[in-house]
Amino acid sequence: MNRFSYLLYLLISVFSISCTESNDNSKENALNVLSRKYVKLGLFIGQYDADFVDAYYGPDSLKPKSKPAIFPKDSVQKEIASMQEELEQISKTDTKDQKARAQWMIGQLTAFSRRVKIYSGEFGTFDEESKDLFGVAAPEYPVAHYQLLLDSLDLILPGSGSVQDRFQLLANRFIIPKNKLDTVFKTTIAEARKRTLDHYKLPTEEKFTLGYVTDKSWSGYNWYKGNYTSEIQINTDIQIFIERAIDVGSHESYPGHHVYNMLLEKNLYRDKNWVEISLYPLFSPQSFIAEGGANYGIELAFPGDDKIRFSKEVILPLAGLDSTGTGLYFKALAIRGQLNYARNEAARGLVNGTMSEPQAVDWLKQYCLYNEETALKSVAFIKKYRSYVINYNYGQDVVRKYVENQIKAQNKKASETVDMPAESVKSKIPQRQWKIFYHLLSNPITTQDLLN
Ligand SMILES: [Zn+2]
Repeated sequence: MNRFSYLLYLLISVFSISCTESNDNSKENALNVLSRKYVKLGLFIGQYDADFVDAYYGPDSLKPKSKPAIFPKDSVQKEIASMQEELEQISKTDTKDQKARAQWMIGQLTAFSRRVKIYSGEFGTFDEESKDLFGVAAPEYPVAHYQLLLDSLDLILPGSGSVQDRFQLLANRFIIPKNKLDTVFKTTIAEARKRTLDHYKLPTEEKFTLGYVTDKSWSGYNWYKGNYTSEIQINTDIQIFIERAIDVGSHESYPGHHVYNMLLEKNLYRDKNWVEISLYPLFSPQSFIAEGGANYGIELAFPGDDKIRFSKEVILPLAGLDSTGTGLYFKALAIRGQLNYARNEAARGLVNGTMSEPQAVDWLKQYCLYNEETALKSVAFIKKYRSYVINYNYGQDVVRKYVENQIKAQNKKASETVDMPAESVKSKIPQRQWKIFYHLLSNPITTQDLLN
């Protein structure tokens, strides 16, 4: 290269770098403008649809200043479409963060559009709604699939009579007395927190409150307030069984919803100023990760037989309950856990109009092994939240599979690397599961990212 062509090369390089940079900057600016519009729009819809906004901790300046008497659904839909068009353009970039933000917002806006329809009384089928709201349709299983699981339960449960009755008989030995709920939940959440802190560094100011409520269709709720603070509520309308203290307690707190919301707030909103993260729209793909992740997190915090051990050694004595049969009960619960896809079918039937409410109650009692009051509660939940139910079971399975696939890919890489023997990598699986899960909870992951 002679002196002249070298100078020319330098000039071109500098020019193209600055061009890319300015292109990057203009996309960044456009994304920031769109992220504020996205939040504003979500908060605007939330003025009408009371379940739309689950959490918001962003700037007050984005809160709506007016509320037209009639919900302007057509102009809202137009705004959603035009924002998605702009985001599509931005997503055609090689800049990883920009692409991720744009694609994440596109998916969230598809959910906005579907939820606006539902709010306005335009219903779709169960699968149509879940695809738009959460980015996916849950698999359907035939009745024979559930019957096989019930048969396997039949083999391990003592006594005679129907498998449903025998399960209830066993379960009824593990109901937490109401006056022991607080101590059992506090102790369980403290344990889940300790186990999470063994793996994650959380903001030092993080905190939560724990309260008890009635007259709700859900069993527990995390109201995230921002500034690393959650208000956790436990519904005491119906009897609470010992395993629910671990499942609901950990799901709402550590490493469940409280941790997920904090990691998003810290890593994306505070550190990167991604304003879109400060709004959590309940009916959106974010909930597929929130609910699936919160359920998967229970397995991480209490792996293997840890739930049995913790129940026997700590919370059953605290609740004043006899621990005889705990092992069998949790074995039966593991099978019942696989039956929870049957709840999707009850929801599918109710949403699609192919099942009446009494039929759904019967179905839930027969195939999900719910007692009467839990079945009625579940129907109330489905009537309010519709296809949301798939986030709990299908979400959990998809998150687990995602983590397993990442581990497999790491193992493969390690087996190909001479200085990193596969055995030493394998021995660290729990730590790696926590690490992959941390990544999942700290990034704008879409349902599609998990499925790929
Ligand atoms: Zn949840």
